[in-house]
Amino acid sequence: QSVKLIAGNWKMNGLASSLVEATALKSALEADPADCRVALCPPATLIAQMAWQLRGGSIELGGQDCHAAASGAFTGSISAAMLADAGARLVILGHSERRAGFAETDAVVAAKVEAALQAGLEPIICVGETLEQRQAGQAVAVVADQVAGSLPLSLADQAFAVAYEPVWAIGTGLTPSLDQIEEVHAAIRAALIARLGPAGQTAPILYGGSVKPSNAAEILAVPEVGGALVGGASLKAEEFIGIIRGA
Ligand code: 13P
Repeated sequence: QSVKLIAGNWKMNGLASSLVEATALKSALEADPADCRVALCPPATLIAQMAWQLRGGSIELGGQDCHAAASGAFTGSISAAMLADAGARLVILGHSERRAGFAETDAVVAAKVEAALQAGLEPIICVGETLEQRQAGQAVAVVADQVAGSLPLSLADQAFAVAYEPVWAIGTGLTPSLDQIEEVHAAIRAALIARLGPAGQTAPILYGGSVKPSNAAEILAVPEVGGALVGGASLKAEEFIGIIRGA
């Protein structure tokens, strides 16, 4: 299995004063390099400054969303090329907070993935069921549908990752059992291969939702868990490093 990817999603948190967390993480990784890829996805307003502060280091940067168009009259939006220009290499797309709060359908997510690839960004495409869907026994079917609908075929020869984030596990302190994570990750792998052919065999499938230092190692050891997408626990370098050390 390829090297794991541990990515921090700062969501709408972080001012210039938070840049010290990124430099603290850089120092910690210089003193004791990680066995995995480490990425931070701060708000877009911080990417350029963070890229400057982290220059020469191993931490990769990502955006949290982009517009599907390359440029134009879309007041308030940010294009994939702008993220890349600011120093990002990755971009999170289709996060459940965007799907639910900004009415992003699978088709919208797929269009954004295409835009990201055009700009040379590596997309991290998020899928995950709601609590109602899990309780109705639909978790596997829902994520398989999201994979089929949100991943354009052009991904086949590109670097990308999928993140399984059960909506009910985000910011709640709840996590699925290790067996449940294994079941859904296996289903995502099958859906990736069904969608992309052999190219679907290698993309890392991250787990996200209430990952913290105390549960990271056991989750990261589950078959087909190729990394983690971390929200709250990525805001403080001291906590995030505890997760990175679990990889
Ligand atoms: P938490 O780690 O805060 O549960 O958030 C997960 C998430 O949504 C990462 O994208």
